[in-house]
Parts: sequence; structure tokens; C-alpha cells
Amino acid sequence: MIRIAIANQKGGVGKTTTAINVATALAATGWKTLLIDLDPQGNASTGVGVWANDRERSSYDVLVDGAGVEQCIVPTSIPGLDLLPATVDLSGAEVELVNSDDRAHRLRAALHDGLDYDVCLVDCPPSLGLLTLNALTAADTLLVPLQCEFFALEGLSQLLQTVERVQQRFNPDLGIIGIVLTMFDRRNRLTDQVSEDVRSCLGKLIFETTIPRNVRLSEAPSHGVPALIYDHACAGSRAYMALARELITRLPEKRQAA
Ligand code: ADP
Ligand code: MG
Repeated sequence: MIRIAIANQKGGVGKTTTAINVATALAATGWKTLLIDLDPQGNASTGVGVWANDRERSSYDVLVDGAGVEQCIVPTSIPGLDLLPATVDLSGAEVELVNSDDRAHRLRAALHDGLDYDVCLVDCPPSLGLLTLNALTAADTLLVPLQCEFFALEGLSQLLQTVERVQQRFNPDLGIIGIVLTMFDRRNRLTDQVSEDVRSCLGKLIFETTIPRNVRLSEAPSHGVPALIYDHACAGSRAYMALARELITRLPEKRQAA
């Protein structure tokens, strides 16, 4: 199983939208996929149709109470896609874990090799706290959604520093699979400029696929389905399919090992 963390400490940059739609695209490609919601807001859970009332056990139980992942996973209506939901109690997890020695390794320990998935995507909260740290410690690689706006690069350097620290202290094998530019608006000159700067600065780390600003992507969650199912032909869905394809090409030999 390949473990991919989706993180960026900024809120509203498209982490959850990316997690939901890449997970759906991978599942549609035949990969058995587990989506882990690690944000107390639970938007990834809602976005795949698992509403708050239907969440009995959650990532909180796994992280704080040591519950088995298998016991907390729920199926979704999307074939090949299961979910480990998040509930609001997760907002207390950082405080509850603060004194335990293995606090950064809880998720890593829970995602054992016996789990029957090809890939697992972890949707992180908008901070670099203990929840994101757990995701980065558990992950093989990191996918970063980046919104093309003025302070984007500044926030990114903070994230990359955190990655370095995690590599040094907790997870030397953590890689960065790529950075995807989100909410791209071709008509906006600033967006265009930032995208050029980011590409010249970070080169191949940036996925060729760019996610456009697309209203269908923002409408889908209120219907409890990924955009890829809500409107599979819209520009946003097509971009996420392309991103998933590009992601797969960056993960070739790992899959065979999975
Ligand atoms: P994050 O998880 O980083 O906080 P979200 O994925 O929740 O970000 O996105 C923030 C908001 O922007 C949500 O309302 C979402 O529906 C919307 N959104 C995300 N990506 C796009 C996009 N490419 N085009 C239009 N709206 C988007
Ligand atoms: Mg989110």
C-alpha cells in the first residue's frame, strides 16, 4: 500500500477537493483506495457522502484510543473507495496526545501492511500540528496543493522545512511526489505570474496538470459526491483525472510492491 499525505498548512487551497477527487479517480482506475480524513472539520467525509450522523468510529478512535483501522473504516458509494472518517472529537486529539511518547507515530503504526489497499490518501487539516505530523510520519510521499496567489511560495517554504524536520526525526523515507497548482484562473494575471514563478523555482516538482477554478468542484460536496461523479465531464473533473494519471506515472515501481 502506498501512503500519500495531502498537506499544506494554509486553509482553502484545495487539499480536501484534491483528496476526494484523486481518491475517486484512483478507485475508478481499479486501485483499491482508502481515504483517511484527518481534519476535524470532516469535509472529506461529507464529500464522499458519509454525513456526520453516519460516522460511528473515526480517525480519532484510531489515533487516540488505538482502535484498529479495519474496525473504523466505512465503505462509500464509490466502488473501490473506503473511508476512515473524521469527527469533531479529532480537534481534541492534539491535546490528548501531547504527553504520549509515540504521539507522532500513531497513524504510522495503525496503517500496517496487512491492510488490503493499493493506496491510501490522507487529507490533512490546515496546520502543521500533531495531526499533520502523524500524516507525514506515516506517509511514503507528500502531495501539496498550492493555490497560485501572492504568498504561496512563502507558505510553501515553511511546509518544506517541516518536511525536512520530519525526514530527520521521524520518517527519513518521506518523499514529495509533487505540487499541484489549484484554483488556477487563466484570466487572472497574478495567478499566471505566480504559476510561472513557482514553475521556474521548483521545476519538475510541479505537476504538469493544473486544476482550474471550476464551480462544479465547489458545488459537488453539498451533494455528498465527488465532482468526478457529480459532473465527470466538467473541466475540474477532467483535470483531476489527468492529475491522477500523472500521479500514477510518478509511482511506477511502488505499485508492484504493494
Ligand atoms: P482545503 O481542504 O485546503 O481547506 P478545500 O478543498 O476545502 O480546501 O477548498 C476550499 C473551498 O474552495 C471549498 O469550498 C472548495 O469547494 C472550493 N474549491 C476547491 N478547489 C476548487 C477549484 N479548483 N475551483 C473552485 N472551487 C474550488
Ligand atoms: Mg480541507
